[in-house]
Amino acid sequence: MAFKPKRKNTMKLYFLLLCSLTFTACAHHQPLNVPVEAPISDVISELKAGNSRFVHHQVIHPRQDQVRLTEQASGQAPGSVVVSCSDSRVPPEMVFDQGLGDIFSVRTAGQAMDTYAVASIEYAIEHLGAKTIVVMGHSSCGAVKAAATTPEGKSTGSRNIDQLLHKIRPGLKKYDSKDQEYIQAAKNNVESTIEYLKFKSHLIHEELEHGKIKIVPALYHLPTGEVEFW
Ligand SMILES: [Zn+2]
Repeated sequence: MAFKPKRKNTMKLYFLLLCSLTFTACAHHQPLNVPVEAPISDVISELKAGNSRFVHHQVIHPRQDQVRLTEQASGQAPGSVVVSCSDSRVPPEMVFDQGLGDIFSVRTAGQAMDTYAVASIEYAIEHLGAKTIVVMGHSSCGAVKAAATTPEGKSTGSRNIDQLLHKIRPGLKKYDSKDQEYIQAAKNNVESTIEYLKFKSHLIHEELEHGKIKIVPALYHLPTGEVEFW
């Protein structure tokens, strides 16, 4: 009978130790990454959840610790490819509150696509197992605005920038000049980019046809930090 209280205390200690270890493990490893073979909808849900944390100033900066560094040194398996603008205000990893190895990022001004950009996306799909491509434009995009307001044939002074605008311009279609943030033009540009990817890449076209990957259009709103999917 004299041992009973002691046994109780021992059990209590074991319990506390177990709780402590569990908590340490969870805190150390941070939230688990979405597995590569996770359904496509889970990848999108993870991005939406991360953006919600970003919008509400509750970011957790997941998967950026030493454990993750060590883990990723031997190989990457990003859940998604985010094709977006080079604009310094729209870094995908930040606006989706993601960690190292989560997003394969392809960025050019106005997310204008060329052979190398398409090849980068194909690499992520074919060799890294990415299943979701998010094509994300943004409000008040300088490249979209320049393409919309610079008449075809008028030079910006740079042949390279002229080519960039020439590439973007047809995809903007009609735009409302009252739309100061060029939101509809940016959305049209996103849809044009998606059509281009399907046309330009046999791999992307085939994988889409067989339902193995998904392309999702999105628009980042600069004033709020919110990513709108449609
Ligand atoms: Zn932009």
